[in-house]
Amino acid sequence: MKALFLIVIYLVAVALPLVLSAWVGGPPRQFHQELASGLGILAFSMILAEFILSGRFKSISNGVGMDVTMRFHQIMARTALAFALLHPFLYQGTPSGGLRPWDPTRELTITTEFSALSTGIAAYLLLPSLVVLAIGRKQLGYKYETWRLLHGIGAFLIAILLLHHTVSAGRYGSQPLMTWVWLVLTGVAAGSLLSVYLLVPFLQKKHPWRVTSVVQLTPKQWELIVQPEGHPGLDYRAGQFVWLNVGHSPFSMKENPFSVSSAPAAGPAISFMIKELGDFTRTVGQIRPGTLAYLDGPYGNLSVDDRTEPGVALIAGGVGLAPLRGILRQLRLTGDSRKVKLVYGNRRFDQIAYREELDAEGAVFVLSEPPDTWNGEKGFIDGSLMDRVFSEDEFREWVFVMCGPAIMMDIVENHLIERGTPSDRILSERFDYD
Ligand SMILES: Cc1cc2nc3c(=O)[nH]c(=O)nc-3n(C[C@H](O)[C@H](O)[C@H](O)COP(=O)(O)OP(=O)(O)OC[C@H]3O[C@@H](n4cnc5c(N)ncnc54)[C@H](O)[C@@H]3O)c2cc1C
Repeated sequence: MKALFLIVIYLVAVALPLVLSAWVGGPPRQFHQELASGLGILAFSMILAEFILSGRFKSISNGVGMDVTMRFHQIMARTALAFALLHPFLYQGTPSGGLRPWDPTRELTITTEFSALSTGIAAYLLLPSLVVLAIGRKQLGYKYETWRLLHGIGAFLIAILLLHHTVSAGRYGSQPLMTWVWLVLTGVAAGSLLSVYLLVPFLQKKHPWRVTSVVQLTPKQWELIVQPEGHPGLDYRAGQFVWLNVGHSPFSMKENPFSVSSAPAAGPAISFMIKELGDFTRTVGQIRPGTLAYLDGPYGNLSVDDRTEPGVALIAGGVGLAPLRGILRQLRLTGDSRKVKLVYGNRRFDQIAYREELDAEGAVFVLSEPPDTWNGEKGFIDGSLMDRVFSEDEFREWVFVMCGPAIMMDIVENHLIERGTPSDRILSERFDYD
């Protein structure tokens, strides 16, 4: 329901400049010319909306999930690119040149004035580069922080170029009302960038945290705990995540998203379960207690707080245990009467984190490369394992919460749907937006 509401808001916001342009109007032109302008207008408003989608607005990402928000951001960027690429070609056959006194409303001609066109051409070249660099980010192998900075600067530059092009070359954009509309919309988009890179860090600076412990859980997984310093802490729901910055200025780009693996009911300290993967995560073991940290959050909608189902099924793969452990601990600490089952998959025995704690909860451990002495479940978390663990009634009535590798989540989700679990009872968090 919330997703539908957000989609309607998105469509209204993106279509608004188009509707207003039609309203300020002018004598009608041929269909292909109106289509060309319409696609250009839509592309620009979609590009501006991209700033909001990636702007960490809790009302958006906490409603549908950050992974869904970012996937939507990616799909809309590609759609806007397609519209933008088509835009100039559809004007073909229209006489061009400078402003003609006999055609003040640009009914019969389009402009080819250098300054008005040059910004459009620059944006036309930059936009595909930005999208292609984002799609090929991993293959190109540059640092995440470098990519993020370039992506932000590139997007901002494109917005400014498009603003100039739209209000100087556009038949509709050059009309005073539309010029104001585009100025305001571009200002809102730029404001969302400023909020992420200046306002949020500024607020973070006033709410520092301090690392109190760093413990090795398994050969490549660490537990990091932070305590609030001089403030009450974070108001979050078990299962949510934050952007964590350890040891750097809050204005630096060195922050990474991590699920909170502790429960709000356990007190203000926040714990994370971090798996070694790249630049930051490989150095977690070297972080000293006492190091300052900053948290931006909470984000995400992986929560069972307001759910009314009689049981909660937690399906974790590897470090995907992090948010689910937070949920499990919260249910226990608050004396929640709902039934709970946890299924936790790993490759090897030594990769199981919090084994004793979870064993006491009756967790079903699954290993794909078990030792000879292993008596537990073997293989992957798949349909047949799910059928062994959950009854028909549980499939139909419980809420299923999953976090782990994409392949595991896809297999489990498909199986749940086959077994009659409605999709609104399947909650998941993906650790990778690509
Ligand atoms: C919602 C969410 C929750 C997560 N929770 C956990 C968790 O509880 N435990 C855990 O071990 N891992 C978690 N991750 C994954 C974790 O964020 C990455 O493993 C980590 O950021 C890698 O950083 P790095 O510097 O070590 O590696 P890098 O080589 O810098 O990055 C590896 C990959 O991690 C992702 N990444 C890095 N920085 C960011 C960033 N600032 N924003 C978004 N993505 C980024 C990118 O896909 C990147 O390609 C979570 C990810 C998301 C999106």
